[in-house]
Amino acid sequence: MSLIEAAFRFLCLLVLLGSGFPASNYTVSHEYCVLGAGPAGLQMGYFLSKSQRDYIILERNDGPGSFFDMPDLLFQRMTRELYPSADDFPRYLSMFVKELGLKVKYGTDVGRITAADINGNQGYVLTDQTGVSYQCSVLLVSTGLWVPQQVNFQGSDLVEGYESIPTDPEVFRDQSVLILGKGNSAFETAQSILGRASRIHLYSPSPVRLAWQTHYVGDLRLEDIAIVHRAREEGKQRRAKKGHQAALKGNEPLYLTLSELLEEQSGKNISGQNLPSYHTDNFSLRQPYDRVIRCLGFSFNFSIFDGSARPPQSTGARGRLPAVTAWYEGRGTPNMFVLGTAAHSRDYRISAGGFVHGFRYTVRAVHKILEQRYHNIAWPATKFPVTQLLPWILRRVNEASGTYQMFGVLGDVILLRGSHCEYLEEFPLQALPQLHVLSGLPISDQGLLVLIMQYGLNQTDTLGPGRAESEWTKAWKSKFLHPVLYYYNTVPTEKNMRQRPVGWPLPRPDALHHMVEDFLTEWDQPISHTQPLRRFLEHCLGADLRAFYAESCFLLSLTSRAPPIFCRQGYLRKQGIVGNHHLWKHARDAGLMEDHQGDSEPGDDASLPKFLKQTGGVVMSMMNYELFDLTQNLMEPKT
Ligand SMILES: Cc1cc2nc3c(=O)[nH]c(=O)nc-3n(C[C@H](O)[C@H](O)[C@H](O)COP(=O)(O)OP(=O)(O)OC[C@H]3O[C@@H](n4cnc5c(N)ncnc54)[C@H](O)[C@@H]3O)c2cc1C
Repeated sequence: MSLIEAAFRFLCLLVLLGSGFPASNYTVSHEYCVLGAGPAGLQMGYFLSKSQRDYIILERNDGPGSFFDMPDLLFQRMTRELYPSADDFPRYLSMFVKELGLKVKYGTDVGRITAADINGNQGYVLTDQTGVSYQCSVLLVSTGLWVPQQVNFQGSDLVEGYESIPTDPEVFRDQSVLILGKGNSAFETAQSILGRASRIHLYSPSPVRLAWQTHYVGDLRLEDIAIVHRAREEGKQRRAKKGHQAALKGNEPLYLTLSELLEEQSGKNISGQNLPSYHTDNFSLRQPYDRVIRCLGFSFNFSIFDGSARPPQSTGARGRLPAVTAWYEGRGTPNMFVLGTAAHSRDYRISAGGFVHGFRYTVRAVHKILEQRYHNIAWPATKFPVTQLLPWILRRVNEASGTYQMFGVLGDVILLRGSHCEYLEEFPLQALPQLHVLSGLPISDQGLLVLIMQYGLNQTDTLGPGRAESEWTKAWKSKFLHPVLYYYNTVPTEKNMRQRPVGWPLPRPDALHHMVEDFLTEWDQPISHTQPLRRFLEHCLGADLRAFYAESCFLLSLTSRAPPIFCRQGYLRKQGIVGNHHLWKHARDAGLMEDHQGDSEPGDDASLPKFLKQTGGVVMSMMNYELFDLTQNLMEPKT
């Protein structure tokens, strides 16, 4: 927003206030409205601020990250040694907002969102609790998941919600508690009342899923289920105490049965203790409970969207989330993007898009898409000669965090352009068919490589024998997270994407390379990692990618019509690393070059080997690729 525009809006506001009109009658316009100041909204605010866009973040509470500050959400139950204090996170987010000077408007509870025509394009109008309207060309919805998942059965009004149960464990002393659900919130609840409640049962239609087996970060961790063993111990002690169970004072005990048993008895007059199977021998729910608590998770709040602006429910995730495209735009709601945990339908139960450490990277990807679509700024791409591709890929597989955290969802795309390539980081894989439109980059017919991190498709016993593959020739059998390269002659189409094999993140490629899994997640070994990768790249590029010393380039240039690309891009253009005393010494110390006693060294012209002098070879390419400083593009040809 320009200074003049800001001043004009301020004047309008003063006029409105001064004229006795309620402030609620005015409309504010912004190019971007971010709804919700949780971690996702703030992350987007950071990118919008950095690129100097006109934006506002609207938040109903009086501080950022309110999700982590709600005592009734029991987040503080996670304050075990491995986890930071729940208060630390909103404090960190407040600092984030303050130090980056993000524009957040607190106390703005948006209750209605409608679609509107803004300069011929679909935009949105958001109305808050005071009647103030915010008109935005682009809406970024980062409202999280706040609607508790309900249960609906006869008597379900007696069930308490995870979001509203007392946080003081003492309240549960000597009570018999049934928890509906077997996810994180169910186990956290059980954990906090263990030792107080006389009995804790967990009930759900699906079995417990462990994160270390499913690789899904939202499933249970080992320390969560450790309470099962503690509960058994407590059970034994309770038996010793005898008859300790007490009904909740003033409340009737709660009896439960299963709906399928009820159906069998349909037509009969059933109530209270006459529930079917209550008297059946060994029926697991035959004892009454003092409390039944539902811990069934949360859904997206669709209710604030008018029919014109409401994204449909996702087909996965039991319809709890809005359906979004592969580039996180609401389906049927152009110019409205969904961010953060609400956008998890793209990778539900697959990757980390529902969690801070994952969606921070998808938010960054969405921002790059916004920059291209609305400001014609192409997806940032690094151009370099293909001779540098191998070390570049090795650096990415060992250092990149976006592709690692958002495995199978974000991947690096390498556009091959003959002797050069363009490297795009962390592109949403499912949007590959729209690569040209979303990135703004031209697609050549020389093919492309996609680098992703991937788990093996076959189930494995994570702690069992033979769980990992160490032989590079069997890299395709790797079970743990490892880098995989897909090579395509042309960009896959939407149809290819739809018809990809089950469980595959991408369609079947023209060539595929798995880098064998590594216990240390360091893919840097010459035989197991580097050499097979080089051979694969050479196969895709149809070029010898080895690095050569100047002497070899010289010989190959004399003996071959097509010397290796390394020599063509370096030595034959008089480029490479200039030899000097320090480099020679370093190469010798590292065992890269033989230590010829008495050999003359480059750097002082007089000491250049004779044959190089004759050919004008004043520049030496004597290092292996590991020694290249990638940040300085030393091999970039002169124009
Ligand atoms: C019990 C539990 C434990 C969890 N633990 C973790 C964990 O350890 N690590 C992790 O990464 N994730 C965890 N999560 C998931 C966590 O919710 C998200 O990772 C994170 O909070 C999502 O960030 P977000 O920005 O998408 O949404 P939120 O943090 O929910 O932020 C949304 C913001 O939007 C605001 N808002 C909503 N509606 C409106 C409206 N109509 N008008 C104005 N403002 C509005 C809210 O006030 C809120 O501040 C956990 C979730 C639960 C339920």
